[in-house]
Amino acid sequence: MTPLEIFAILLAAGLAIALWFSTRQRNLDASRHQLEMANAAFALEEQSKLAVKERKRLLNALTDAFLLIDETGQIIFANKAANRLFHSRSLINRSLREAFTDPRLAQAMTEGLLASKPIRTRITLPQQASPLGDDERRGMNSWLVDVAILPGDEGAAPKTRAIIRDITAEQQTDQIRKDFVANASHELRTPMAIIHGYLENLLEDDMLEDTEMSRRFLAIMRKHSERITRIIEDMLVISRLESGEESSLNIEPFKLQDCLNDILERLESLIHSQKASVELKLSDEKVQIHGDRFYWTQALFNLIENALKQNSRPGLKIEIGCLVKDDELQVWVSDDGIGIPSAALPHVFRRFYRVDKQHSQNEIKGTGLGLSIVKRAIEAHQGRIVASSTPGSETKFLMTVPLAGPKPDSVELDSQIPLFKE
Ligand code: ADP
Repeated sequence: MTPLEIFAILLAAGLAIALWFSTRQRNLDASRHQLEMANAAFALEEQSKLAVKERKRLLNALTDAFLLIDETGQIIFANKAANRLFHSRSLINRSLREAFTDPRLAQAMTEGLLASKPIRTRITLPQQASPLGDDERRGMNSWLVDVAILPGDEGAAPKTRAIIRDITAEQQTDQIRKDFVANASHELRTPMAIIHGYLENLLEDDMLEDTEMSRRFLAIMRKHSERITRIIEDMLVISRLESGEESSLNIEPFKLQDCLNDILERLESLIHSQKASVELKLSDEKVQIHGDRFYWTQALFNLIENALKQNSRPGLKIEIGCLVKDDELQVWVSDDGIGIPSAALPHVFRRFYRVDKQHSQNEIKGTGLGLSIVKRAIEAHQGRIVASSTPGSETKFLMTVPLAGPKPDSVELDSQIPLFKE
């Protein structure tokens, strides 16, 4: 072999080796690149799975019902609150009409789907028991339906989200407040008008000369001004109890017997003049209430005074008792007077409610706020009150409260109730 041939062979071998190395390197780079791509795709997928999971977790944590609806009107996502609201009926892949058996709700949602702008509407349905357990408005449920289109990602069809909020409690509180203002204005206006009338008589009809008549008029005016003061005082107590000041109740242990002695002392002359008798039936004289003595005194005073006010016939028997039952304390006030007709019984705790509405202004015995104060005061102590009455035999107000007093951290109850029965 000539040196030239040897050189040519070596060169060819060198080139072949260089080519093999470069191809191998390229292959290695390509597979590394592929691996990196696969890793990145996996990480991305994991990330988006986590994001979906996180989104679901957040939506499930909402107390409002949340639905996601696709462009064909089918539900594609429902959070936990929505499932609770629909009593765990299956919602996914159902149309709105199928899901909402009540056409008014379905219609509100469909309008939202068709409209290009967000829709917020309030709907009141007379279907379910009130979550407040308020007998007055039982059966009315109010919902705030909020529907908006969500723009679709990268050319995907837009979806619609719907939020359904139970606003029954807010609506009722609002209505109760309106009623309260209307009733309070009416109750205050009446004695004010009477005072005004007598003042006109005295001043414009020149009656001041007649001292006897003037005195009589002034006495009537004083009675009505006292009534105005009482209504205002009662309204202030209710407003304090309702302003969320329950937490600032002055809770301390006190003897029920001591509290009753104070009240009976204040009512002594009335008890005496009506020849009424009061019997104390305390399971233990030392029994203690863990509560706010001011509100307990007010509540028991109102109940005992009511018994006396409503029964002016002599010889009324009033019984005040208490009993410890498990971890609860029961306290009651009963009388054997005229009682409360069964039709009126569910309403007696309402503000300004009076059984006998036919009386004249001179005969009005109370403000009509007494029992609502009692109820609010007992509820502020995490207790409850029940009224029962067999006219002429026994009218009883039974209060039950936790023996150890109200718990500082009351547990929030889930107010969501199913929208539809199965
Ligand atoms: P008022 O200030 O008019 O007494 P309440 O809220 O205390 O208002 O009571 C509401 C109504 O319930 C009273 O007007 C009365 O008709 C009735 N009532 C309350 N307690 C008794 C009772 N012990 N016996 C008969 N009726 C009662």
